[in-house]
Amino acid sequence: EEAQAKRLRQPIVVVLGHVDHGKTTLLDKIRGTAVVRKEPGEMTQEVGASFVPSSVIEKLSEKLKKMLQVKLEIPGLLFIDTPGHEYFSNLRKRGGSIADIAILVVDINEGFQQQTFESIDILKGRKVPFLVAANKIDRIPGWKPFENEPFLETIGKQKKDVQNRLDNQVYDIVTQIAQAGLNADRFDRIKDFTKNVAIIPVSAKTGEGIPDLLALLAGLTQRFMKERLTFAEGPAKGVILEVKEDLGLGHTIDVILYDGILRKNDQIVLGGVNGIITTKIRGIFVPKPLQDMKLSKYDFTSIDEVYAAAGVKISAPGLEDALAGSPIYAVNSESNLKEIENKIEEELKQVRFYNSVEGIVVKADSLGTLEAIVTALNKENIPVRVADIGNISKRDLMEASIVAQQKKEYGIIAAFRVKTQTGLDVGNIKIIYDDIIYQLIEDIKKYIDDIKN
Ligand code: GDP
Ligand code: MG
Repeated sequence: EEAQAKRLRQPIVVVLGHVDHGKTTLLDKIRGTAVVRKEPGEMTQEVGASFVPSSVIEKLSEKLKKMLQVKLEIPGLLFIDTPGHEYFSNLRKRGGSIADIAILVVDINEGFQQQTFESIDILKGRKVPFLVAANKIDRIPGWKPFENEPFLETIGKQKKDVQNRLDNQVYDIVTQIAQAGLNADRFDRIKDFTKNVAIIPVSAKTGEGIPDLLALLAGLTQRFMKERLTFAEGPAKGVILEVKEDLGLGHTIDVILYDGILRKNDQIVLGGVNGIITTKIRGIFVPKPLQDMKLSKYDFTSIDEVYAAAGVKISAPGLEDALAGSPIYAVNSESNLKEIENKIEEELKQVRFYNSVEGIVVKADSLGTLEAIVTALNKENIPVRVADIGNISKRDLMEASIVAQQKKEYGIIAAFRVKTQTGLDVGNIKIIYDDIIYQLIEDIKKYIDDIKN
């Protein structure tokens, strides 16, 4: 007797890369493709994410049989809608990320830039495997576009010198990835995908290479992540992407579920500014079905249950203090409640803490960014006394001034996307503000070095 095969869930895909290299355009193109090619009735609407069904990927990659031999067992791919570092940081999970795989977008004509290298660091830090989309191939001099064709088709139709130009650019990217300590090659020349980063030449504008990119994302995740993607029938697990106030719904949280089933009457446990929040779901929402991409995305419809992976909006009492980047767990029996509350509390304590180290005070706007900053400071051997969420308080000033008396260079407050509480007199405490994590770290390092020397 054959055991029933376990269902696989959608891999969660994120897009990172340097500014202007085409992250948003690529996501729009993928979304647009999914809407045009999906079967009637196939659901693609999600909150904070976009679902591309496997039927679409199979249709697109018909010409790529060689690459995608197997029938897809995963139901599709779930793309996180907002690209970039800071958003990625809130997809945190203890010791990693809920993102299963990433697309690192690189403008093939510009090659690696500062944020490209940073993206690799961030992905390595959270142990997320990635593919490189070498974007804007339509800008290669002499390129003749063939809309929405697989790369493996369109490349054969280009003149020899254009093919060579593309390969030289791909080779530059291979060299730059090597600087980050990784092997890479053009995807169609790779034999062992566990040892090489695949580079897929694409154009987010003409759609060329998108079929190859989707086929590879689906094929590789299904092949190498079976265990991670095996769907658990139990209560849902997720992470809070954003905390919002929505017209008519009050305070809500946008959540990416990566495991289990969420039901309308579930009790949920999540992290809040003032401690653990245990509450009961009032409603689960997804956007109203889109007939076309131009309809407003902000018209929600209520659903009774949802299976991971998915992006949903949740309304419940007490969510105004919810923490972006916090885990959220559904509870199916009272006997688990305490255990789950403790688990989340423990996890939050790793990220938000007060201790007596002679180190700096860090204040950030979300759990994800706070964790990313503290990790970066650890790497630079800069001690941290306070790591917390929210605007700078009187207590933060006090903590910094205590440290300043012993070690002036560490008597500072690092502020990421937060302000001082209204009416607070900062006195002579040094506060370093920045909205970009690496810039904040650079500024802190510089300040400390200046005082030490
Ligand atoms: P992001 O900052 O990484 O999100 O980059 P955007 O998606 O905003 O793209 C930056 C600019 O590059 C925009 O003007 C896009 O229209 C353009 N762009 C993006 N992808 C392509 C592409 O494949 N080909 C061409 N020619 N332009 C592109
Ligand atoms: Mg963008």
